[in-house]
Amino acid sequence: MVMLTEDRFEPPSMTEEDPNQNGVGETKDGTARWGPQHAGAKELANQYTAGKRAQETICVVISIALMVGNLYFIVKHFNIDNWYIILPAALLGIVTADFFSGVVHWAADSWGSVELPIIGKALIRPFREHHIDPTSITRHDFIETNGDNFAVLIPVIAKMFYGFYTGSPEEIAKNYNWNCYLFLLAFFISITNQIHKWSHTYFGLPRYITIFQDLNIILPRKHHRVHHVAPHETYFCITTGWLNYPFEKFGFWTKLEELITLATGAKPRDDDLKWAKKTN
Ligand SMILES: [Zn+2]
Ligand SMILES: [Zn+2]
Repeated sequence: MVMLTEDRFEPPSMTEEDPNQNGVGETKDGTARWGPQHAGAKELANQYTAGKRAQETICVVISIALMVGNLYFIVKHFNIDNWYIILPAALLGIVTADFFSGVVHWAADSWGSVELPIIGKALIRPFREHHIDPTSITRHDFIETNGDNFAVLIPVIAKMFYGFYTGSPEEIAKNYNWNCYLFLLAFFISITNQIHKWSHTYFGLPRYITIFQDLNIILPRKHHRVHHVAPHETYFCITTGWLNYPFEKFGFWTKLEELITLATGAKPRDDDLKWAKKTN
C-alpha cells in the first residue's frame, strides 16, 4: 500500500486556493461538487437545533470557568524544582489528547450512522458534514465549533477543581503531577476543534496561529490535508497531529478496522460514503 504523507497526495485533495476542494470532482453540469450547496451538506447543516445550541452554550461557560479555576491552582502550587516531572507529564498530556482526537475522529468517521438515536444527530452528524463541506467548520462560531469537546471534559475538570479546592496541602502536592498531565490533556482536548478549524482556514489567520502551526505545536494546514483525501481513511489525529505519521507507518487504523470487520462484519465508512453520494 502507498503511504500517504504531506508530500504525497493522491487526488482529490484540497489546495490552498480551494480549501473546499471544489476544483476536483466537479459534477456533470459544471457546478462544484463539495461545499454548502451539496444536498447532503444542506440536510446535515439543518439538523443543528436550538436545543443543541443551548446545551453547547451552557457547557462552554461551565467548562471555561472550571478550566480557569484549575489553572489558578496549578500556578499557585507550581514548584520549579519539580520541572523534570512536570514537563514530561504535561507533554504526555498533549500526546494523549492527540491520541484521543484520533480515536474519536476515526470512530465517528468510520462507524455508526447519522440515523443512530441521540448520538447520530448530536455527535456523528458534524463529522459527515465536514467531509462533504470541509470549510463549513470555518463558518461555525466558537460555540458550535467547540461545544462538544468542552462538554465531555466537565466531569474530569470538575473533579480536579473539587480536589484542589477541598484538598489538604499534602493531598494537593501528591496529586500535582497527575493534575498537570490531566490539565494539559483537558486543555488540548478543549481546543482540538478550534485547532482543526484553523487548519482549514486559509485566509486571515492571526500571525501567532500560523507560527504555532508552522512549529507543529498545533495541527498544521498542509498536514491535515492528508486526511481530506477521499475516502478519509488516515491522519485522524487533529490536535497536534504528532501521532499521524507513526500510525500511518504501522497501519494502526487499518489493522483496527480489520479487527472490527472480522468481529462484527461491519464495513468502515459505509455511512460516510452514503452521504458523499447524496444528490437530492
Ligand atoms: Zn474526518
Ligand atoms: Zn478537517
